[in-house]
Amino acid sequence: MVPHTLQVHAGIASPLLHHEVPREQHSVWSSHYDEGRLTHRSARTITLAHWADQALQQYHHIEALSGISFYTPCGTLNLSASSDGFSYTKQRYLIESALNFRYVDYSAEQLAHTYPMLSRSLPYHGLYDAPPSGMIHPRRMVAAQLACAAHHGAIHHDDVVTRITPHHDFVTVETALGHEYKTQRVIVAAGAYSGLSSLLPRSLDYTIKSEIVTLGEISSDTATFLSNMPTMMIDCQNNIIEDAYLTPPLRYPDGKWYIKLGSNSVDDVFFDSATALRQWILHGDTHRTHHAQIALLRSLFDQLDWISFRSLPCVITRTPHGLPFIERLHPRLTAVVGCNGSLAKSGYIVGTIAVDTMAAGCDAPVGQ
Ligand SMILES: Cc1cc2nc3c(=O)[nH]c(=O)nc-3n(C[C@H](O)[C@H](O)[C@H](O)COP(=O)(O)OP(=O)(O)OC[C@H]3O[C@@H](n4cnc5c(N)ncnc54)[C@H](O)[C@@H]3O)c2cc1C
Repeated sequence: MVPHTLQVHAGIASPLLHHEVPREQHSVWSSHYDEGRLTHRSARTITLAHWADQALQQYHHIEALSGISFYTPCGTLNLSASSDGFSYTKQRYLIESALNFRYVDYSAEQLAHTYPMLSRSLPYHGLYDAPPSGMIHPRRMVAAQLACAAHHGAIHHDDVVTRITPHHDFVTVETALGHEYKTQRVIVAAGAYSGLSSLLPRSLDYTIKSEIVTLGEISSDTATFLSNMPTMMIDCQNNIIEDAYLTPPLRYPDGKWYIKLGSNSVDDVFFDSATALRQWILHGDTHRTHHAQIALLRSLFDQLDWISFRSLPCVITRTPHGLPFIERLHPRLTAVVGCNGSLAKSGYIVGTIAVDTMAAGCDAPVGQ
């Protein structure tokens, strides 16, 4: 991590954590306010697979330096009707050779034998991406990054930025609490909100998409029974949802145990203002997707006793090329935006590239 004299906000892609505001009171929501994120080498492009692989190698180091654990190397199981049809595993042979590992193939029969928690006779082939793939706890990962950044001399200001103005010799950063900072360089990594406030000198071609997750509540005994479960990605054959993913049981802040399943949906909507996004986060209509997600959970785990189900409206960003924009928009301002719903795991690498981009492009003396 590189020391910065000023960090006013932070997400996964930047090193510091800001205080999390409750859903009802937020002015800027986040893509990472959750208990679990999948981390795996399967990806739609080799670049993304490399980033994930490099990030996976950093987790233990960040845990050791910060004293905060956030990583569970439980493996990731890909479930798909055909092994080469799923967007995440279509490039399996290229990924295997580039990253020097081998997936484990499971027929439908072998799946049932190896993963007793799964329903019998699922219409899927399995491709297992063994540890180091698995799961991260995103809130704890950001807290660990925050601790590492502080260790390197960073100062954290917990505030919402309302305007950033780059000048020839410096940048001004104005905040909701009425502060005005002058700094030498800025990296904007404000997730969906990067282009919705006055933070960037010009717009970037990213879209803001709704994402829905369903939390399936189980008992602590069931959670114990499932303690060896991998994270899973499911190429489900369904007319409402696709590209589903789920985590093993996680204990949420309400003290209950949930399996979390998310997916894309035919009902996904896009936002072009902070007001519309706020409305979605607070009151988004998740009904149809929620029921399709419950049906998928029940079909995958037909022996489990479910206690309850609830859905949560979330947000992700997308770019036309599937990679984030990591761009110097001004000699003193670099933006990182468009993580395409899959880069919590690679935040360390994305952040490092952003810092290098900023440093390489800085025409003026910096560092004061
Ligand atoms: C439901 C869901 C499931 C996902 N699953 C996975 C997964 O399994 N694996 C994976 O790798 N990725 C996953 N992702 C994607 C991942 O969470 C995002 O790629 C990642 O969080 C993006 O990081 P970011 O820092 O760009 O944005 P964010 O995580 O959104 O962080 C941006 C931060 O900036 C803050 N902010 C915004 N505006 C301001 C402002 N004006 N002033 C101050 N602060 C501001 C926000 O509050 C936030 O804290 C998932 C996302 C969702 C929603």
